[in-house]
Amino acid sequence: MSSSSHRSSSTNHLPIRLRALAANLWWTWNPEAQQIFKELSPLVWRYSNHSAIAVMQEISDQELAARLQDPPFAKRVRAVIEEFDEYMSPASTWVSRHAPALKDPVAYFSAEFGLHESLPIYSGGLGVLAGDHTKSASDLGLPFIGISLLYRQGYFKQRINPHGWQEELYPTATPESLPLELILQPEGGRLLNSVEIGHSTVFFQTWRLRVGRATLYLLDTNLPENESHYQGLTSTVYGGNIDTRIGQEIVLGIGGTRFLQSMGIKPSVYHMNEGHSAFLTLELLQRELKNSRNKQHAEQRVKASCIFTTHTPVPAGHDRFSADLMYHTLGRFWSASGLSFDDFLAYGRVNPADGNEQFTMTVLALKMSRAANGVSELHGHVSRNMWKELYGASREEEVPIGHVTNGVHTPGWATHHAHVFWNQRLGFDWTDKLMEPSFWQKLTNDGLATDEEIWALRYTLRRDLVEFVRRQQFEFFQRLNVESPLDTAHVLSPDALTICFARRFATYKRAPLIFRQLETIIPILKDPQRPVQLIFAGKAHPRDNEGKRFIQRIIEMTRHADLIGRVVFVENYDMNVARHLVSGADVWLNNPRRPLEASGTSGMKVLIHGGLNLSILDGWWREGFDGTNGWSIGTDAHAPEPEAQDEQDFADLLQTLTQSVIPEFYDRDAQGVPRRWVGRIRHAMATLIPRFSTDRMVSEYINNYYLDRSRRG
Ligand SMILES: *Cc1c(COP(=O)(O)O)cnc(C)c1O
Repeated sequence: MSSSSHRSSSTNHLPIRLRALAANLWWTWNPEAQQIFKELSPLVWRYSNHSAIAVMQEISDQELAARLQDPPFAKRVRAVIEEFDEYMSPASTWVSRHAPALKDPVAYFSAEFGLHESLPIYSGGLGVLAGDHTKSASDLGLPFIGISLLYRQGYFKQRINPHGWQEELYPTATPESLPLELILQPEGGRLLNSVEIGHSTVFFQTWRLRVGRATLYLLDTNLPENESHYQGLTSTVYGGNIDTRIGQEIVLGIGGTRFLQSMGIKPSVYHMNEGHSAFLTLELLQRELKNSRNKQHAEQRVKASCIFTTHTPVPAGHDRFSADLMYHTLGRFWSASGLSFDDFLAYGRVNPADGNEQFTMTVLALKMSRAANGVSELHGHVSRNMWKELYGASREEEVPIGHVTNGVHTPGWATHHAHVFWNQRLGFDWTDKLMEPSFWQKLTNDGLATDEEIWALRYTLRRDLVEFVRRQQFEFFQRLNVESPLDTAHVLSPDALTICFARRFATYKRAPLIFRQLETIIPILKDPQRPVQLIFAGKAHPRDNEGKRFIQRIIEMTRHADLIGRVVFVENYDMNVARHLVSGADVWLNNPRRPLEASGTSGMKVLIHGGLNLSILDGWWREGFDGTNGWSIGTDAHAPEPEAQDEQDFADLLQTLTQSVIPEFYDRDAQGVPRRWVGRIRHAMATLIPRFSTDRMVSEYINNYYLDRSRRG
């Protein structure tokens, strides 16, 4: 009976291992692990927005022991735990093979991290990019530490009121309901650090979050030691006024750097994801100035360890603070540096002699980094032009800003169904081959997956989306306590060409563009032989009334007599809603006002699901589009005037839709399969997946940015 006693003893420790598994976000990109948590409590899984921690808190040790008495279930749990153990201690990694010199961690500072829908510490694309960067860093074996803030109230939960107007709710999460561990001092008791803001000393504690092999530290000022108005300083993402903003940025940049020092962590590189954390360079400068009074020497040493990624293609989008505000909030910090106030402000000014110029975080980051980059080729051009003056350059080429085009963490975005489908056809290790063009090239013929199978996948994913939207609509009308104007079964069709538009409702993204001429678009959408349906989602910033009017316009369209049931808006765009939309969409629509979409990433998430992009040639799509792997709206140029641009882009959008997209989708052979469409999917996957993954992106950061310093020693 020794084998059975062995089996039962290994089952005995499974509960502990399962609880530990829930505490590492690795499960967010392992579908079988998610499935196990979901099966443990489908209800808690659903109400907690898919939180493994919430599920494990709901389940008693007694229940867990009992559930694990079911041998097939226990077997699956054991298999996932084995997979996790292998992941955590691999024989070798990409970094150990290709960049063994990288030993000290990269410290990556970001005001937001989008890791999972159950962890509300992100607002949109910037955060999702940081989250995907972290997951790929873990996958590639890069020593990586992320620094951010613990926002207990997150961004906000979006509700649409009966007038079609966005309202914001701020539910509060407790750290206990999140997979967080409080950082303690060696002798016990929580580790406290502090920053000076105005006349106050603001304390913060720090929480550890494990993301595979990577670690995130989240700083949190919600402490009784703080004056009450500072207790909520870190409660919402980009919330409050300018004082909140600068306070949060002081905690993030200066506080984050002090925290690392208090932990004895010596990063090889400080990577600033956008300018919010740029005060970190001034904290590093102060340290250097304590050792050497030679200012230039100190600056050089700071620069040698910092790199900066800019994301904002318009001057107005950059954080700027008045000299007054700087004086009042950073006066104590500055006076400790021994610099004159003018010298201090000069770090954030293009023209230090101009006393009226505001202090700009991007300028600070650019001045104090050894390397900087935009997030697509076009955005690199735009950024070099925008900052010519800073470098005294007359030509763009003289400006030392490069580019690394963004990507997505494909395994994290692939739905359960997509994982199962590709595991069967590409093998379980497809997630290790995201950077290999020759691997994905195999999809251009039908050796691994037939047209029929790919078309079946598209149908399954589209139906999943339609049913998800129907549930949402049902709950929406139930909450408003009004009769749904349409029987749920008539909301959308699983057979119709499905176009999705989901992103922040920043006005430059032009959500309502497709409705510019209703009399033209309505007959196209309503064509009984070739129907087209549109699904929208997105949040407007709470203070962006223009963006809220765009949402209202879309809501109006969803109620239009000719469009009802064909145009829908899904509330509360978050990573969960995004995953449903990017998997179900046949076509992902992107029509920003060029060149304002620095990169854009949502269109990359559709690829593994067989979705296709229809987009302005802006950001990543300008690099990705090759003429046949999706569609462009217009050409690699744009009209200078916004109104002319809208007019032209609308005309181009209609033309591509009616001449190519719609006819190709409905061009079926005797088996009912749109062969040319599926061919386009194959070509899109083969050409785009290996280029637009964060594995490729992080490897580029390693080779061109992170490694540089280690080589220089
Ligand atoms: C991917 C994603 C974004 C970023 O999409 P863009 O294409 O850059 O607009 C924003 N929000 C959520 C929830 C996402 O998943």
